[in-house]
Amino acid sequence: MALALVTGASRGIGRATAILLAREGYTVAVNYHQNVQAADEVVNLIKASGGKAFTVQADVGDEAQVEAMFERLDQQQEPLTALVNNAGILFTQSRVEALSAERINRVLKTNVTGYFLCCREAVKRMTLPLGGAIVNVSSAAARLGAPFEYVDYAASKGAVDTLTTGLALEVAAQGIRVNAVRPGLIYTEMHASGGEPGRVDRAKSMLPMQRGGQPEEVAQAIVWLLSEKASYVTGSFLELAGGK
Ligand code: NAP
Repeated sequence: MALALVTGASRGIGRATAILLAREGYTVAVNYHQNVQAADEVVNLIKASGGKAFTVQADVGDEAQVEAMFERLDQQQEPLTALVNNAGILFTQSRVEALSAERINRVLKTNVTGYFLCCREAVKRMTLPLGGAIVNVSSAAARLGAPFEYVDYAASKGAVDTLTTGLALEVAAQGIRVNAVRPGLIYTEMHASGGEPGRVDRAKSMLPMQRGGQPEEVAQAIVWLLSEKASYVTGSFLELAGGK
């Protein structure tokens, strides 16, 4: 079977995706940045249900660390055929007029440079005849702009969308499919980083579906996009945002 790398898989959407991919038979590389305990827990959960996984620490915004992470993947028996670019950050809710260059650059480094670097290393390895598939986790914020909250984060997801479109066209003939998901309000710990842990419950009534989403609902879409069932899908965006 094949190897899948999920960045930011120690919690939230990445964690749910890693668990589901393992259930589908992938060996899963569980990337994390700082929380080794949470990443170990994901690997232990996968192993306890008969799956295969291991942790791989790297700051995805750091070129040398990303290269070292992929070199570790090269040592595995299975070839890398799936990448989920998921590791993302945001900071406290703020208007644009209060954003510092330091904060904007930190967001872009993880959310944009990190996605580029992992895509770069993955496509080098996803050679024919196997090829591969990449799913970039974008956000509904790319369409909505996240006013009064984090336009810097929303703009980083706009860049992820453009990366998805451009890379999908570059590598389509090489047997690599590149797609994105755009989650909306999903119950994860990310909202605490924005200063409002209860953000999903506060805002859910504004959604047509009147509820927040679960990480597993996003994971299902990611796993489908990676699978052979989506063999003719590339350069596409799946909205997982309750209708908004
Ligand atoms: P989360 O619960 O905050 O988890 C973030 C994950 O990213 C953690 O595993 C964290 O690892 C990892 N991470 C952060 N910085 C990293 C770095 N520099 N290098 C490697 N890993 C790093 O986030 P989430 O809500 O699941 O979000 C996952 C993705 O979905 C993000 O791209 C986010 O923008 C997107 N999204 C989320 C929502 C939502 O409502 N939650 C909506 C739209 C889009 P450590 O724990 O080790 O630090």
